Amino acid sequence: MTQEKPYLMALDQGTTSSRAIIFDKKGQIVSVAQKDFKQYFPDSGWVEHDPNEIWTSQSSVMVESLINQGIRADQIAGIGITNQRETTLIWDRKTGKAIYNAIVWQDRRTASYCNSLKEKGHADLVASKTGLIIDAYFSATKIRWILENVEGAREKAKAGELAFGTVDSWLIWNLTAGKTHITDITNASRTMIYNIHTQEWDKELLQLFDIPESLLPEVKSCSEVYCETAGDVLSVKIPIAGIAGDQQAALFGQLCTEPGMAKTTYGTGCFLVMNTGNEAVKSENQLLTTVAWKIGNEINYALEGSVFIGGAAIQWLRDGIELFPNAKDSEKLAMSLDDNDGVYFVPALTGLGAPHWDQNARGAFFGITRGTTSAHMTRAALEAIAYQVYDVLKAMEKDSGKPTQELRVDGGATANNFMMQFQADLLDCEIKRPEIIETTAIGAAFLAGLALGFWKNREELQSLWTADKSFTPQMEENKREKLLHFWHKAVERSKDWIE
Ligand code: ADP
Repeated sequence: MTQEKPYLMALDQGTTSSRAIIFDKKGQIVSVAQKDFKQYFPDSGWVEHDPNEIWTSQSSVMVESLINQGIRADQIAGIGITNQRETTLIWDRKTGKAIYNAIVWQDRRTASYCNSLKEKGHADLVASKTGLIIDAYFSATKIRWILENVEGAREKAKAGELAFGTVDSWLIWNLTAGKTHITDITNASRTMIYNIHTQEWDKELLQLFDIPESLLPEVKSCSEVYCETAGDVLSVKIPIAGIAGDQQAALFGQLCTEPGMAKTTYGTGCFLVMNTGNEAVKSENQLLTTVAWKIGNEINYALEGSVFIGGAAIQWLRDGIELFPNAKDSEKLAMSLDDNDGVYFVPALTGLGAPHWDQNARGAFFGITRGTTSAHMTRAALEAIAYQVYDVLKAMEKDSGKPTQELRVDGGATANNFMMQFQADLLDCEIKRPEIIETTAIGAAFLAGLALGFWKNREELQSLWTADKSFTPQMEENKREKLLHFWHKAVERSKDWIE
């Protein structure tokens, strides 16, 4: 009967807002509702969300997205969920109440504990099982922190009275009025207690982090009918049929379904994910190995790497240096020059991430002469975003042994055509910017739609994905080599700056 229902709803539970987006059969957006919620910073380096606000903001936008366009709940064939990853919640199974705020992925409170684990030599064990680098970012040490610091939590956990979940689990628990405690394999792969090779919670890691198994949700694939919403959430029961963490959902939403296909999101930072097919590739460049998705019995892995300062370089020139009033002015300024005239910017404003990994690097301009203008500085910053993405992608190619087939892009800074063309020129590969830039939400909708027969197969999805614009490489090899030579020279000189 699902064939007759014309819409799918994606829930996109992000770090700063909850959104509900309704898609039709053509993959077009018919309605969006969004609600921001509060960020709590109770201590230096701590970031929390109120679990009730996560749930109430999410459930209210579900209703709003229907009302906005006069859509009835019984016209929704199913729900797909995508979410901020790693953020950790623990609640009481009986009352359904969280015992502490959600500890957000950005939260650094467990950083020194993570360092002590590294010092004790656990890094290889963790990497070999989870594909991750020991870091406060991931859920495991956040779970442990709650068990250690909330009164009575450890005893209750031992007695099986508590449940752990990432945000997807929390939403589904609430959507089903406490009937269903599940997560999907992409979210599980970010907890640092899930073995991505054997596809199970890892007993040795649970012991290392002192986490009782009774807390854990059942791990499901990314595309199957898991359960139905409880009667009182919307007026009818709706199947929940897709789950993936935000970066993985974006990779699927971009339909990077073949090994060697990659997506980059150009936001404040840049987030790269490359499909490596059925093989979990171990990185030699400190990239993360992660589960891209599991559909049916088929699992796809990915390599993941991030650039700390992406669009933020433009934000800084706009707000910090006040070079121009709007981010989009950067394009005109850069295009007013035919060349960078030898000016380079290394945006190591917070150190350098993959593949350079130098916390002590700091930002620097190189090649400045009397002729250097604000246009040069702006152009250097835009080019720097592309150079950084180039370096991470090349590290991914080295690790996977697969050349990049095609790069698909999304995020606010992809509006900059100059930067996108420069990226294509540097990588010497085709770049495609899709028409529907809500790639995360549509990824969740695609996953749910496949499980429900709303869309027949991946071929049908491919026919829905259309590029708004393609960027074809035009640069000559020797020019590319010269630019990269000077960029890498600049990177080396910016390293190890603070003492
Ligand atoms: P986030 O989700 O991280 O907040 P967005 O995807 O909304 O980021 O993108 C915003 C970022 O993109 C900002 O850092 C901004 O400086 C940058 N940006 C927006 N428009 C442009 C543009 N035309 N050229 C370059 N950078 C841009």
